[in-house]
Formats: sequence, C-alpha cells, structure tokens
Amino acid sequence: MFESLSDRLSGVLDKLTKQGALSDADVSTALREVRVALLEADVSLPVARDFIKAVQEKATGQNVTKSVTPGQQVVKIVHDEMVHFLAGDDANAGQLKIDNAPAPILMVGLQGSGKTTTTAKLAKRLAERDKKRVLMASLDTNRPAAMEQLAILGTQIGVDTLPIIKGETPVQIAKRAKQQATLGGYDVYMLDTAGRLHIDQELIQQAADVRDVTKPRETLLVVDGLTGQDAVNVATEFDDKIGVSGVVLTRMDGDGRGGAALSMKAVTGKPIKFVGLGEKMDALEEFHPERIAGRILG
Ligand code: GDP
Repeated sequence: MFESLSDRLSGVLDKLTKQGALSDADVSTALREVRVALLEADVSLPVARDFIKAVQEKATGQNVTKSVTPGQQVVKIVHDEMVHFLAGDDANAGQLKIDNAPAPILMVGLQGSGKTTTTAKLAKRLAERDKKRVLMASLDTNRPAAMEQLAILGTQIGVDTLPIIKGETPVQIAKRAKQQATLGGYDVYMLDTAGRLHIDQELIQQAADVRDVTKPRETLLVVDGLTGQDAVNVATEFDDKIGVSGVVLTRMDGDGRGGAALSMKAVTGKPIKFVGLGEKMDALEEFHPERIAGRILG
C-alpha cells in the first residue's frame, strides 16, 4: 500500500531542520513529497500544482513549535489547507435545498456510477432522518431493468416509486412524477435519469429537457470516486451542459485514496454533498472534508 505522508516527510525533512522557522528549502523539499502523495492519490496534476503553491505560501517562515517535528508541522499545514480547500467557503454547501414541497431532485451521472443505488440511499435517508415523504421515479426508458431496479429498491427501503408506464418519454415521466408528488402530498420527488457509458448529446439533451420541465431544487451528479481524472472530466461536462448543484462520490469504500474529491472541488467548485461507502442502503454519509483529507494524505 501507500507510504503515509507523515512517514515520507519525517524521512526527508527531519534531517534538515532542527527547531526554528521552516526555511524555503525545507518547505520545497517537503512539498516535493506532498506532490508525490497527491499524484499517488490520483489528484490531477494542475490541481496538485495549485494546491502545493497555496501551501508553500502558508508554510514558508512558519515557526516550528517545540512539540512537533518539522515533518509533522508541514503535514498539519497541508492537512488544514486541504480541509479548507475541500470544504469551500459556504457553510451550507452540504445541505440539500428541499423546502417548497414537492422539491424535485434530479440525479445525473454515467451508467455504472452508482446513480440508482444513490437515489435510493438518499431517499431512505430523507425519509428516515428528515422525516420527508419521498417519491422516486426512474427515467431510464432505454433500460427497463434500471426502472425495475429502482422499484425493487423502493420496496426494500419502504419508499414509494412512480408506477412504470411503458412507452412514456423521460419528460412525460418527469411530468407525471411532479403531478403525483403534488397530488400525493410528497415533500420530495427524485428523478433518476438515464445513464450512458459515455456522455453523449442525447443523454445531455434528455437531462436538460427534464430539468426544464421540473426546475430541480438540486441537481446531484453521481460520480465513481475511483475514476480519478475521468471523474473530473465528467463533472465539468455535466456542469457546463446541465448545471450541477452538488456531487455525490461513490465507491469511497474502495481502495482508492479519494484524490478525485480534491480535483473535483478544485475544478468544478461544486460542493461534494455525500459519499457512497458500499452497496448497502445505509452506506451513504455526509461529506466530511477532514476524513477525505486524512485519506488523501495517508
Ligand atoms: P447506475 O448505473 O449509475 O445506476 O449504477 P448502480 O446504482 O446500478 O450501481 C452499479 C453498481 O455499483 C451496483 O452493483 C451498486 O451496488 C454498486 N455501488 C453503488 N454505489 C456504491 C458504493 O458507494 N460503493 C460500492 N462498493 N459499490 C457501490
């Protein structure tokens, strides 16, 4: 597995500096190691570069306190900066806007990203924790199995799904979901859009049409956290074409170091709202910047 950043740094840095201020040279040496750690964690190169620059400015000239080694001190500066970077400035960024019932939540993402699973996980969370009445609808008219999958998950978690009517278009389903949510007194209705293996014009147009008829309060992009740089490209594309209000990173229970989170935040500026941590319906967590920072830094 990966060598932890603290170990990496104490090796190179503790030889150089005793106590006193961190010099330019010390910081540069340390940051070379940080850069390697970031790249190993699948953070994209430009993002790693910008991040290192920000840390460099913070760290140079800082006094090393007696209780820690210079290596530990740099790790702390890097860690704090990363948490700040991941969290962003908006204190409410992690909250879902689901007032004005029925609030539409549009779920978008590539096929296999975990979109349907995440739709159900989030519905369960809203129903159980927030006591919301939730209706889910699948718009994946190309894949009947995906529509059935959502219905099965709905039964499993005790959340209603919109009955499937064959031959409807995604926009027709979305309109019916809105109507049913309004008439049925639901607080939230979640629209699980079709996924493809790659982004294509038809997929984007479909999601944009659904967005236009429902005016979602949240458009959540579900991305596989293990896909690294690809995840960032996907996020940029969806955000440009459809407009994304937040990101859910799935498969963060896997072996990856989660560097996609940092790249994603840096490139799109969109808040990461939730993290998927497994296949089970409870394996969804609010995004905790300090946990991901710890994991990226090792
Ligand atoms: P979709 O095509 O985007 O709707 O993807 P699905 O929701 O069908 O998920 C694809 C596969 O990924 C399923 O086997 C899910 O159980 C699995 N999956 C989804 N989220 C996670 C996660 O956070 N961790 C793990 N380990 N598996 C996940």
